[in-house]
Amino acid sequence: MRGKETIVVCDQCGRKVPRNKGVAFEKGISFNTGMNTTQDVRFFEKRKVYYCISCAKHRGIFEKLKRQAMKKSEQV
Ligand SMILES: [Zn+2]
Repeated sequence: MRGKETIVVCDQCGRKVPRNKGVAFEKGISFNTGMNTTQDVRFFEKRKVYYCISCAKHRGIFEKLKRQAMKKSEQV
């Protein structure tokens, strides 16, 4: 199938890449609401982001994915 590829945007450089050429990575983001200063209200969210190949290489995403895969196989 041509011309029906899903395009993803690299989280790092904003480049648009076909999803099969992008590298999916689950990123944990923590943030607080900033609404309450007496209480430390934090949210932790896992978000799936995509990187283009060069950013993935540059940021060591492949290494992280390898480590994640190893962790998963240890748990089983
Ligand atoms: Zn990129």
